[in-house]
Amino acid sequence: MTDDTSGDGPATRYSRVLLKISGEALMGDQGYGLHPPTVARIAREVQSVHELGVEICMVIGGGNIFRGLQGSAQGMERTTADYMGMLATVMNALAMQAALEALGIHTRVISAIRMDEVAEPYIRRRAVRHLEKKRVCIFAAGTGNPYFTTDTAATLRANEMSCEAIFKGTKVDGVYDKDPKAHADAKRFDRISYDDVLAQHLGVMDASAIALARDNDLPIIVFSLDEPGGFRGILAGKGTFTIVE
Ligand code: UDP
Repeated sequence: MTDDTSGDGPATRYSRVLLKISGEALMGDQGYGLHPPTVARIAREVQSVHELGVEICMVIGGGNIFRGLQGSAQGMERTTADYMGMLATVMNALAMQAALEALGIHTRVISAIRMDEVAEPYIRRRAVRHLEKKRVCIFAAGTGNPYFTTDTAATLRANEMSCEAIFKGTKVDGVYDKDPKAHADAKRFDRISYDDVLAQHLGVMDASAIALARDNDLPIIVFSLDEPGGFRGILAGKGTFTIVE
């Protein structure tokens, strides 16, 4: 149990979490790339949780810049395209680092692909130490391997860092039985099992990420990142979300 030091809300039962967001979450309404006010807004959401004393890992996708599948559909070799996708995640991680540091939060970008001038290499014990010192660790370059996604990277790092849960920030406030933006009668689940997510192809995360979370009893909490204060509220047990467990 971590105390809420600000005194304006209940305590949170989480001490270490991983926030996964897609690259598209950083592009605002632009349709491509980085939208600095949106990056700054998400950084403030992270700051509000950091203030609770929670240790925070982050994984950011790269889909706002480049996805491997997009490159291979255009005739590029898949592995090359995937490496480009991984490099895109490094750009997003650096943008988030800059936004968090502008708020006075200490951070480290930790890359699965070595690029020592830009980011630290991934060394598990060193990353754990950063977390203990309340530095936000932004894990970049996915798993470092082609044919994976940043959802799988998020699940891998959350396990390695002994996070209590993955918080998957999306555009909707949980997991629905069908797309809530297209169907008015879509039903949101409060709780759903990993196996039901897989069997119903609910698209919370890709199948390998869900299976890795299931096999290690790592809960996935799906919530809306568009809701101001939503991340902090959910850590305090309030708000609307779906828990996959
Ligand atoms: N990628 C990869 N290995 C990884 C993680 C990511 O090859 O471990 C590549 C892959 O091409 C992917 C791209 O990086 O399409 C961007 O990641 P992702 O699609 O997960 O980003 P998001 O959809 O979350 O923005």
